[in-house]
Amino acid sequence: MSYILEERKKQIARVGGTVKDIDCGKVSLAGSVSQRACVFCGSRVVLYPVADALHIIHGPIGCASYTWDIRGSLSSGPELHRLSFSTDLREKDVVFGGAEKLRQSLDELIDRHKPKAAFVYSTCIVGVIGDDVESVCAQMEQEKGIPVIPVQAPGFQGSKKDGYKIACEAIFKLVGTLDKPTPKYSINILGDFNLAGELWILLEYYKKMGIHVNASITGDGRVDDIRNAHNASLNVVQCSGSMIHLAKMMKEKYDVPFLRVSYFGIEDMSDALYDVAKFFKSEELMDAARKLVREEIGRLIPALVPYKEALSGKRAAIYVGGAFKAISLVKALRLIGMKTVVIGSQTGDKDDYKMIQELCDDDTIIVDDSNPVELSAFVKETKADLFIGGVKERPIAYKIGLGFCDHNHERKEPLAGYDGMLNFAKEVYATCMSPVWKFVK
Ligand code: SF4
Repeated sequence: MSYILEERKKQIARVGGTVKDIDCGKVSLAGSVSQRACVFCGSRVVLYPVADALHIIHGPIGCASYTWDIRGSLSSGPELHRLSFSTDLREKDVVFGGAEKLRQSLDELIDRHKPKAAFVYSTCIVGVIGDDVESVCAQMEQEKGIPVIPVQAPGFQGSKKDGYKIACEAIFKLVGTLDKPTPKYSINILGDFNLAGELWILLEYYKKMGIHVNASITGDGRVDDIRNAHNASLNVVQCSGSMIHLAKMMKEKYDVPFLRVSYFGIEDMSDALYDVAKFFKSEELMDAARKLVREEIGRLIPALVPYKEALSGKRAAIYVGGAFKAISLVKALRLIGMKTVVIGSQTGDKDDYKMIQELCDDDTIIVDDSNPVELSAFVKETKADLFIGGVKERPIAYKIGLGFCDHNHERKEPLAGYDGMLNFAKEVYATCMSPVWKFVK
């Protein structure tokens, strides 16, 4: 396996093999061409769906265009988040400083768009030239009367995961600044980004159970809801890689407990509803959850049969951002008769990889923070029929000539919940069974 760099060997394991404790949570190895994005991008993907906030990127235009409309996060109201503002720093600004340009941009944009808050992202060059972004934000906050929050995320500062943490800290500045009456059974949804409207599916489930969603952080997010988020009784955390830091801070400061869930696949979706009912110790909520699950599964299982028949025995490779989602995907694939042969993530931790080791079959390759060379070799070696990943994995799959399912920011099909499971089966079927692969190979 000459394609694996010596220093990366401990980040790769095989189920049933000798490496039990996978090395993870570290800075990407130089020369490995990590699939991870930069710190700034990490902060941007988490904060971006707050739809009534102004998002301004203090940096060269490339940082803004690289993350423009980066998630397919839908909004049921304002769409200010979809505009990608930038101070467009040029050579002169780098030499003489860009703080005044930032002040002028904020002044103009806040007056024009009347946002509920502004997030100001610092990129690499701002970290180098040292513009005093904090004091510009403080001045604008005072002048305009809205929260103006610095997001200090120069790309070189660490990994995408550090960007998640920085985003959580920015959100945390808003939490606790507004008090609204909140019903008894109220939760916040953390870590759903309303890709293709997935949040709306979840809202419907919780509504049927009689649970109020106080704030969604950050899919279809609103500044005032986030400010009032501390009044919820529970934080339900999906994408824990990005949101666990916020959940922990809210537990410590506001005593809001949290639980980790996943909304992908039948088992995890059902557990997400049962776990919330269990938390509130309410038989009424539990009965409502059971009824909902019974009805949805009763509808879904027969609809999955033809897909399972066609896909049984096919092999899948998974490489996604968060490991918790990867775990749900293994279970969802099993439900349609498929076996996972490669599984990896950009940001998984030791516990996640331990869970994966226990869940997957012998010889499954597990990889942390992989690169295109490794991934290409793994899918070839394991004879995968399908690759599940994001925008950077798509060309790997297509070049090799195998089906691809987008399970990342850009997808246009909701894959969460019970309807999402059916969409997933349809998409996997369409790509795996496509006749085009015969010609490519
Ligand atoms: S690495 Fe730096 S320059 Fe590149 S996109 Fe990220 S913040 Fe911008």
